[in-house]
Amino acid sequence: MTNDVLADQEAMRTSNVTQFERELPLVVLGEMVIMPHMTVPLQVGQGKSYRAMEQAWEEEREVLLIFVSENEIEGYKSNQAQQLPPIGVIAKLEEFIKLPDNTVRIILEGAYRARVLDAVQSEPFYRVRCLPLFDPEVSGMEIQALMETVKQQVDEFVDHLGEVPQEAVAFVHRIDRPGHLADIVTYGPAFEFKDRLEILKTLDPVERLRKAYLILARQIELLKLRQKIQQDTKEVLDQSQREYFLREQMRVIRRELGEDEESDDPIDELRRKIAELQAPDYVKDQALHEVRRLAQQGMNSPEAGVIRTYLDWIIHLPWADEEFPEIRITEAQKVLDEDHYGLEKVKERILEYLAVRKLAGNKMRSPILCFVGPPGVGKTSLGRSIARALNRKFVRASLGGVRDEAEIRGHRRTYIGAMPGRIIQGMKSAKSRSPVFMLDEIDKVGMDFRGDPTSALLEVLDPEQNNTFSDHYLEIPYDLSQVIFIATANQLEPIPSPLRDRMEIIEIGGYTEDEKMGIARGFLIPKQREFHGLTDDQLIITEKSIMKLVREYTREAGVRNLERELASLCRKVARKVASASDEQVPVADAPDSGTNNGTEPPALSFTIDVADVATYIGPERYTYGLASDKDEVGVATGVSWTYAGGDILSIEVLPVRGKGTLQITGQLGEIMKESAQAAMSYARSWAEQSGIDPKYFEDHAFHIHVPEGAVPKDGPSAGITLTTALISAVTGQPVRRDVAMTGEITLRGKVLGIGGLKEKTLAAHRAGIKTFILPKENTKDIGELPEKVKQELTLVPVSSMEEVLKIALNTTK
Ligand code: ADP
Repeated sequence: MTNDVLADQEAMRTSNVTQFERELPLVVLGEMVIMPHMTVPLQVGQGKSYRAMEQAWEEEREVLLIFVSENEIEGYKSNQAQQLPPIGVIAKLEEFIKLPDNTVRIILEGAYRARVLDAVQSEPFYRVRCLPLFDPEVSGMEIQALMETVKQQVDEFVDHLGEVPQEAVAFVHRIDRPGHLADIVTYGPAFEFKDRLEILKTLDPVERLRKAYLILARQIELLKLRQKIQQDTKEVLDQSQREYFLREQMRVIRRELGEDEESDDPIDELRRKIAELQAPDYVKDQALHEVRRLAQQGMNSPEAGVIRTYLDWIIHLPWADEEFPEIRITEAQKVLDEDHYGLEKVKERILEYLAVRKLAGNKMRSPILCFVGPPGVGKTSLGRSIARALNRKFVRASLGGVRDEAEIRGHRRTYIGAMPGRIIQGMKSAKSRSPVFMLDEIDKVGMDFRGDPTSALLEVLDPEQNNTFSDHYLEIPYDLSQVIFIATANQLEPIPSPLRDRMEIIEIGGYTEDEKMGIARGFLIPKQREFHGLTDDQLIITEKSIMKLVREYTREAGVRNLERELASLCRKVARKVASASDEQVPVADAPDSGTNNGTEPPALSFTIDVADVATYIGPERYTYGLASDKDEVGVATGVSWTYAGGDILSIEVLPVRGKGTLQITGQLGEIMKESAQAAMSYARSWAEQSGIDPKYFEDHAFHIHVPEGAVPKDGPSAGITLTTALISAVTGQPVRRDVAMTGEITLRGKVLGIGGLKEKTLAAHRAGIKTFILPKENTKDIGELPEKVKQELTLVPVSSMEEVLKIALNTTK
């Protein structure tokens, strides 16, 4: 006997059941289990099981049910079943009715388990020996608790599932035996075929219920999980649908109200802006790509700020094509004349440039204009006028001090605080794709280890390349080909030659006093008057006052400071006018005055005469005229030329007791110091030839000083001035104070050419100099000097130091 049978017998003993072996027709059911206490309607095909039931209906109306999987069922049909399953269920046939339509109505009720022993017949149906099995009676707290738990599980399961009839649940709650409970819950949807078989096979009722409990528990967990997933998905869907509908409604409402259709969702908002952007597809693609990244990372991610700034740049850069009316040269000329005094040649060149642009359109590589000149001569304002004449926007970017390529081209976005370069920044503020773009201080572009900004600039200015200008920050190309670039510089020499070659240089020199006067009267004063809200009558500045401003309040090549002084004058007058009108009595009550008939307050007018200037804007800043009132020994007047234009400088030499050394003070550069050495050597040999005791140089040390030392001075052009001062100091002959000079000196006393003659003569003229000594090599430049300068300054070209001394040293003494 097997262990199972032993166990069965044991079970029977404890359950007081005295049933014995039976032989019953066998019904094989595929993929289903009918548990004891279960009533089930069945459909059975015309096979052995059908015949078995037919027979049973005739006999005791009992059958033995066994449950097999779908693929095992075939074996029974063909008598090839390997082995009968160990446990089946004895069921009662409640109904077996053949209906007229040839179908059969069968209802079976499971009664109790049975151990399947063996088959005693297989045809026309199986008949099988079996041993009925009954659950033993069991009880105890633990079993009660387990039963309660399982009942709760059923409730919970039903809660999750819905759909289960309430009577069924009530029925389950009434069950009071663990085995029975296990059998009943097994019928529920939580159990699969194999679970049911497992429960069927488990004879111990408590063990059976425990198994049912475990299966239920697992199923409930699964169910909960599934529900949670469904819920989550649903929530997400609901949320986005809800948002969508609300947003749509909002949009409609806004449209109805005629309001801006702005959305609250920043991502949507960005998408909308990008969609509206008048930009090439590659730009929009890039922007949308970034928006997707932003959406993925979330608005609060650390990267979000960076992406949004980037998108902001893309959205605010001008991308759209623009059309411009044809350039009208006469119109442009009018604009240039309206805004600027004089500058005839410059205007002429600009008009030529515009004419070429007009005829050749964008086809031709029109050169880039470059205005070179000291500050305040109108470079910027010419640029503005060009923009005005062409109906374009005007922007400027200063390149002063740019050493890093990244300042032109931007930093890659991986840098913290990365930004586009100055070009793209300018384009953003221009808000137009075709502005007049002024690149200021192109002569101050430097170069260092971080790359050469010049090459980036070359790309910007090259019409062949600049339609796909690449900024590191933007990452996508930007078309600069519609931009009109104008460069400005104070000096020509420092501009790197590849850049210089690209540009059409237009030099604008400093102004003479007369020109400054004209500019002030015709342009600066009206402009400032208007700016300060003053009428022509309210402020009158006499010619002499203007001249005083030019001579004693400013010392410059351009008119920038002059404009500043005029502005401060206007400010003072505006204040007076304003406070005077405070005190004015209302018109109706105004006392009659001789000049108005009682309907208007008396007009306020301020005339600024020479004497008034200081009262308004303080004492003069410079003394006009020659620095000293008599010729001095050891002091010579030179002229310097810096980015700010020309200026006169006096060079002092003082021989003191010493050992022939040279001490130089006054912020002089290396070249100027070398120049002083050369001057010294020349002076020594000159002294020797002129019969001066050579011992003089051994007994004396020389201190050379160039006052106004705050301004660094350098260059070789002070050579002849240094020499003159030295020789004057050695010989004791004074230097003429009305003579200024410029020129490099060689050891043998030859005078070499210099640069910046125009600015230098202007400075000398400004300072009241009468005679100007210049190198013969520079004679060719005299033609370019302003008429006024040529008339009032005696220009003396020289080639040797001898000639200089002849003029400069006052030999009358
Ligand atoms: P820059 O750019 O050369 O330093 P600006 O263009 O800023 O000089 O000129 C300084 C001021 O002087 C501006 O207000 C400008 O309009 C004025 N200005 C300069 N030159 C002239 C001129 N020839 N006619 C009228 N105004 C001038």
